[in-house]
Amino acid sequence: MLMVEAEHLVRSFGSTPALRDASVAVAQGEILAVMGPSGSGKSTLLHCLSGIYTPDSGAIRYDGRRLDTLSEAARTTLRRTEFGFVFQFGQLVPELTVADNVALPLLLNKVRRHDAYATAAAWLHRLGLGDLGGRRTGELSGGQAQRAAIARALAIGPRVLFADEPTGSLDSVTGEAVMELLVGLARQEGVAVVLVTHDGRVAAHADRRVVVRDGRVLAASEAEAAR
Ligand code: ADP
Ligand code: MG
Repeated sequence: MLMVEAEHLVRSFGSTPALRDASVAVAQGEILAVMGPSGSGKSTLLHCLSGIYTPDSGAIRYDGRRLDTLSEAARTTLRRTEFGFVFQFGQLVPELTVADNVALPLLLNKVRRHDAYATAAAWLHRLGLGDLGGRRTGELSGGQAQRAAIARALAIGPRVLFADEPTGSLDSVTGEAVMELLVGLARQEGVAVVLVTHDGRVAAHADRRVVVRDGRVLAASEAEAAR
């Protein structure tokens, strides 16, 4: 079953075209790796697929329903309850503790405080940050902050995880552990994962690889042939 499906997405920033004609889909339980050069439109694609940005044209379906034409309020609710997003540049709240950051999306979803913090602690533990819940996020190393951001994205139990270079600040052993965690979520819980990566070893864990080039999405094999 297709979870997220995008057809002919176009998105510009002023006169800069970021997506020219991007079509891509990810199925339930599938891990899709999005690769491609810097500036090719990968982050813009992820923001459009997850409903953070509205495309200028094209269609996005989530679970068979149009996402791009939903009201802002309906999209925000959907994002908050069913999507996890790991931003390329962290976006944790530096003044809050690590546990506060991970519990925040649950509290926004009206989960009771005690339960939200218990769930946050469990995810921090799974990401090897079990001891750091009380630290201010601003005190974490880059790799720790990245894992905290992954814990925050997963805490709500999303049906789709969008992750923009989630292992970019991790050493290879920690990056492998994170990928094994994501593979487990996809296989056991059917989470669809769309992840941007530059790292071939990370992409090797994916079920399918695509390459974004000049705002278009190519199958990895097509991208090779076009070189
Ligand atoms: P990638 O993630 O592949 O590096 P991006 O999607 O971030 O690529 O960027 C694609 C193009 O869109 C680039 O030319 C970039 O400068 C531009 N762009 C992306 N986001 C913005 C923004 N918020 N404002 C203006 N230009 C942007
Ligand atoms: Mg990017």
